[in-house]
Amino acid sequence: MKQDTTKHQGKRRQLIAVLKQKGITQAAVLNAIGDIPRHLFLDSSFVDHAYQDKAFPIGADQTISQPYTVAFQSEQLQLKTGMKVLEIGTGSGYQTAVLCHMGAEVYSIERQHELFRTSLKRLPSLGYKPKKLIFGDGYKGFPKKAPFDRILVTAGAPSVPEPLLAQLAVGGKMVIPVGDTNQKMTVISRTSDTNFQKLVLGDFRFVPLLEDKN
Ligand code: SAH
Repeated sequence: MKQDTTKHQGKRRQLIAVLKQKGITQAAVLNAIGDIPRHLFLDSSFVDHAYQDKAFPIGADQTISQPYTVAFQSEQLQLKTGMKVLEIGTGSGYQTAVLCHMGAEVYSIERQHELFRTSLKRLPSLGYKPKKLIFGDGYKGFPKKAPFDRILVTAGAPSVPEPLLAQLAVGGKMVIPVGDTNQKMTVISRTSDTNFQKLVLGDFRFVPLLEDKN
């Protein structure tokens, strides 16, 4: 049976120490990573490695992001309880769980049906309740529920999709890795209807954000 044990909890404490060393400080982020059983978001063949600070395959040619990347993006969001968040790239659902744990109202979009289906079952079975998981193209965002206080893109975008900028609330923030093979983590703050401020941070490597042509 899949479960969380004291051994896993001990490994999570070690992971938290590694993330702190790498510069993560926000308590809500560290608490989420300390509580969420990442090993239950991975194929059983990777379970023993679940608490290394590494990305792993999750099927459909995709990966679960490295814990440091999840922590870094979550910290950059400057999230507050109750905020409405749109995530692009549900993948394994791990980052979605982090956002739920941090008290956000989460909408998350995934374009790979197999991953969408797995997360749809997995998240509630572990006690995480996103507002909605959506099967579709994240390039288009989710206009029905816009505007969003925060938008988090967890795949590498060649450029910032216009529909996502349009769906960001005034006063809101988007965290998005921008670039082709390597990405620069980019934080976009919407300061008015027409003004956006851009902050460019360090280099990361993500699987690509793919646009559906139909
Ligand atoms: N947050 C995920 C990271 C998964 S990797 C996790 O913690 O596991 C990025 C994910 O983005 C992949 O699952 C990929 O299928 C998805 N993706 C890529 N382009 C997309 C698009 N246009 N719309 C929605 N999801 C997309």
